[in-house]
Amino acid sequence: MNYEQLFLEFSEKACEFVEKASGVALGFHSVADGILTTDVEKLQRLLLKYEVFDFSNLPESISSVEDFLKGYLFTFTTGKALQMMIDKKDIKNWIEENFGKGTLKLGGTSANMAVALASFGFKKILVYAYPLVRELAELFPNIESIKTVSQDGRIVHPKDGWKEEKLGAIHWIFEVKKGQKISLSGKEIVCPRDNRFIASWNPVNSKLVIADHFKRVYLERISEYPKFMLAGFHIMRDVYPDGETVESRMEDIASFVDEIKKRGAKVHIEMASIRRKRVRKALIDILFPRADSLGINEVELSWIAEDLGESDEGVLEGDPNAVSTTLRKVSEKAGIGRIHFHTLGYYMLLEKNAEKEKFGLAVAALAAARRAEIGSSPSCDDIKEALRHPLSETGLKASKLSSSDLYILPTKIVSKPKLTVGLGDTISSIAFSLSDIDDFV
Ligand code: AMP
Repeated sequence: MNYEQLFLEFSEKACEFVEKASGVALGFHSVADGILTTDVEKLQRLLLKYEVFDFSNLPESISSVEDFLKGYLFTFTTGKALQMMIDKKDIKNWIEENFGKGTLKLGGTSANMAVALASFGFKKILVYAYPLVRELAELFPNIESIKTVSQDGRIVHPKDGWKEEKLGAIHWIFEVKKGQKISLSGKEIVCPRDNRFIASWNPVNSKLVIADHFKRVYLERISEYPKFMLAGFHIMRDVYPDGETVESRMEDIASFVDEIKKRGAKVHIEMASIRRKRVRKALIDILFPRADSLGINEVELSWIAEDLGESDEGVLEGDPNAVSTTLRKVSEKAGIGRIHFHTLGYYMLLEKNAEKEKFGLAVAALAAARRAEIGSSPSCDDIKEALRHPLSETGLKASKLSSSDLYILPTKIVSKPKLTVGLGDTISSIAFSLSDIDDFV
């Protein structure tokens, strides 16, 4: 197989095929991110005032100012990314009073996918954004194909459907920079690398509540959006402050999934990095058996292998033999017919007649490479620019393992990426949106 030829041929057909693709709905995670840079003097002052000198006993979530400062200090000291949910409104208010909202930017897996698909040229995208307040709505780009359901049941661009002014959810992103210094108990701490600490206030979305108006309108218009991509599980909790459990929330989502599947929709689950084991278990037990498709990377696959009591040896390193064995086990145990694995260098698709999806996978790979290079979502025309990047050697070797139900595509590698966040969302959403390609080739 000459992969360069394949990429060239498919890049030329991308726009034509995108025109023919059916509509896609995306739920349930769109949010405003508040971006803030670190003011070291302010951070040091607050740490001293609240007597936080280390990050021992780092809690899972934030219920006090001290918890918040511990998380912040963890990222500042180690240079490692960390996301923690804020449990109490008065702490959210305290952060807002002390830091403001920051520079607002659209975030959340569903919103990111909506922007990736719309920029690419997909014509029908329905994204769930709730509560749709003005500040969130205005962060969506002015692309006509992005629609949502307004509270009064209209299908509109988010900017034409907001209801209230007040932001009900915000994910604060505190960026730390390599070389920034603070002094604590006479000791200097130097931040070792650029990274971010995320403190999330999201009481509605963290339950992945599906608003009634969305359910009603989506069920009525399902034939226009016959593919549904589910995401956002990484912000769920084991037990919510009101006592509700993640299992009960998952059952609620499952009954919606049952409804839409009865009407013929295809359901994809985008895994993302779910740190809580109980949330992963609830997802695997309750939603996996209902899904038609799963999008996953090497870290997520290694966790799932462990959850299912399987060996995860070699998975994290992306060893194609280990990955394919694990994918087969996940597919068998969870009964998912399509699994799209992505890692740096190759994609692996496990599905009956997997090769028939090579068009969607190749187009997704070019879009991801272009996005990595320019730092924003490319159009279907623009992906030709990614052809000049080299194919991964690891991917080329891995591709030899392809078989009738396992298609392995080596991917293009960008040597100096401008941005790597959101690449997984781009890859999975484009490939799934084009997964029924054989209907219109
Ligand atoms: P995720 O971590 O799930 O968002 O996925 C990131 C994916 O982006 C990886 O699995 C790769 O397939 C792709 N990727 C990351 N870095 C690059 C790069 N420099 N060039 C091309 N693709 C990349």
